[in-house]
Amino acid sequence: MYQLHSLEEALKHFFGYDTFRPGQQQIVEEALQNRDLLIIMPTGGGKSLCFQLPALLKPGLTVVVSPLIALMQDQVCALQDNGIGATFLNSSLSYEQVRSREAAILDGKIKLLYVAPERLLGERFLPFLETLRSRIGISAFAIDEAHCVSEWGHDFRPEYRQLRQLRQRYPDIPILALTATATKRVQQDILQQLTLRSPGIHIASFNRPNLYYDVQPKQRQSYNQLLKQIRSQNGSGIVYCLSRRKVDEVASRLQQDGIDALPYHAGMNDADRADNQTRFTRDDVQVMVATIAFGMGINKPDVRFVIHYDLPRNLESYYQESGRAGRDGELANCTLLFSAADIRTIDYLIEQKPNPKEQRVARQQLRQVLDYAEGTDCRRTIQLRYFGERFQGNCGNCDNCRSPKPVEDWTIEAQKFLSCVARCQERFGATHIIDVLRGSKKQKIEQYGHHLLSTYGIGQDKSIDAWKMLVRSLLHQGLVDETTDGYRVLKLNKLSWEVLRKQRSVHIAVTQAPAAKAFDINPRSAEAEILFERLRKLRKQIADAQSVPPYVVFADSSLKLMAQQQPQTLEEFAQISGVGTHKLTQYGDKFLSEIRGFCQEQQLPVPLPSDTQMATLQLYQQGLNIEEIAQKRGFTTSTIITHLSELIEMKQPIDLNQLVLPEQQKPILKAIQTIGADSLKNLREHLGESYSYEDIRLVRAWWRRERDC
Ligand code: ADP
Ligand code: ZN
Repeated sequence: MYQLHSLEEALKHFFGYDTFRPGQQQIVEEALQNRDLLIIMPTGGGKSLCFQLPALLKPGLTVVVSPLIALMQDQVCALQDNGIGATFLNSSLSYEQVRSREAAILDGKIKLLYVAPERLLGERFLPFLETLRSRIGISAFAIDEAHCVSEWGHDFRPEYRQLRQLRQRYPDIPILALTATATKRVQQDILQQLTLRSPGIHIASFNRPNLYYDVQPKQRQSYNQLLKQIRSQNGSGIVYCLSRRKVDEVASRLQQDGIDALPYHAGMNDADRADNQTRFTRDDVQVMVATIAFGMGINKPDVRFVIHYDLPRNLESYYQESGRAGRDGELANCTLLFSAADIRTIDYLIEQKPNPKEQRVARQQLRQVLDYAEGTDCRRTIQLRYFGERFQGNCGNCDNCRSPKPVEDWTIEAQKFLSCVARCQERFGATHIIDVLRGSKKQKIEQYGHHLLSTYGIGQDKSIDAWKMLVRSLLHQGLVDETTDGYRVLKLNKLSWEVLRKQRSVHIAVTQAPAAKAFDINPRSAEAEILFERLRKLRKQIADAQSVPPYVVFADSSLKLMAQQQPQTLEEFAQISGVGTHKLTQYGDKFLSEIRGFCQEQQLPVPLPSDTQMATLQLYQQGLNIEEIAQKRGFTTSTIITHLSELIEMKQPIDLNQLVLPEQQKPILKAIQTIGADSLKNLREHLGESYSYEDIRLVRAWWRRERDC
């Protein structure tokens, strides 16, 4: 059995990581004991390692079942880049390719074999599997995206149902089932469908501490707000919109505004979609503007922000969609842009649904999304509560925890509103009540005689939006009810009457315009930031040469550590998290020389002179004066003076006293101190005709050089 320290050594050796993520180590230990396992971890939790590391440490080969070709290719590509024998068999391969891969497998060169479920149990493959077992040995079956076996999941695939045959055919081979689905029902279904045998069940917390959540009220110019939000972010991001039309529109506006953005939606043809996705994962473009069609197939760990430009359908989808950010564990931002007008759009869509039951479910889901968007509690707490997980207190990484909204006493407004509901005999919805309060001249009001009510026109001091905010807060706090049969009539309840009888006060959180920037996501020193960008460029070059996504070469977190620690030797480089044995040999030298080059540049206080500056300097050092140098080089004297000024600033050995009379230098310096050094023209005007531009330029260069010392 492997000792603790040797498991960690194996982790470093194969994957370059120093420590296990929560849960991983115990899972790996149980997998090594050949136990069946159900592994439930949120996206980015590090599920793959839970079957990959045991596969490498056990004799034989692990068969991984994965539903999507893109996912298989990504994982195999990442494994190969760590020097690990991995391959996949799916419908994208030619007959010859399949044959040669099968040969490599039977040669024992492969530790992880990825297969699509329909192939695994196909007529042709079963005999191969049998040969494989007797010749090489099968150490485990890992079923990725295991929720696909369940009809209750969001991605049911009938082929997954066949997987129960695995247990029947190979009762002794352990099965590992992995998923990011949170619901209990699906988890139960997985256990049953795959007939797991007294499995170790590992359910990680669904909390994603590296994600910053915020909700911003949409401004009138919401596109500009979106643009500003994108410009304030670093790295790749996804913008989710509700409709295809909006996706196309936003993507093309962003392109016009100089953002590298591409659209993605189900209305595009397969080739264009796949192409856009590849360009996104390879960092050829920064932003993907997408409908929710852009989902499970995307396996990019370094997405730094996800912005919902429209309301998500429900909280679970919000969790999954926003959760595509920060899978690498680095900080990432999840922003929801929210406006009351969007509620109307969704309401309208719900009304179009033919089935009343569907409508009811959709309304309830919308309410939960609004609870999230308008709630004043910690956003993380609200999300985790939805999954039945308790999260206590202040997370410190959401807008509500960082800057709680001001709460105001709106008891009087609430009384006006509720009494108007009562006077309208609890037969109307919020829009009508607000019309009455604001003294609207709509025909409907006169028709019902509501212009005669004592509450008619008593609410003109507040805007329609302000009243709506109050209504949502009253509903949210349970201080008034609303019928859900499609008409949304407001009804008073026990608490409403307490408000009306002055037994209860009403406080609401008042939304204000958002702060310019949520927070500085990543305070890094300027120097490390420059180096980070250079390492990113190098990574992109290497990745392009190999036709792989950049994150396969190194994760952002590894580049960041390189930029901060600036390793100078291969030993130091090997210490960086994410640098395993294979990557060290493959990329170590390239990255080291980039880092060393950068450090040398940093040590030089000023850049080296260019060739033409050097030529001027040499003639100057031979004792030639300015005219002679100009003649010799075929330049004007003013060009030579510019060279000399630049050379002075670069701290080259040039004596100012030989070039400018000492009694002229003093007044020039004084003028610089008075009016600044930025404009030669202003200095000349200030000093008068008796001072030449050339002299001023040379003295200014000397002044700059002294100032920088
Ligand atoms: P999941 O499948 O659960 O969404 P992955 O297996 O793709 O997550 O892992 C997410 C990211 O975390 C990957 O970039 C992976 O390399 C990285 N990772 C996994 N385990 C560790 C670890 N112990 N230390 C550092 N990074 C890790
Ligand atoms: Zn919080």
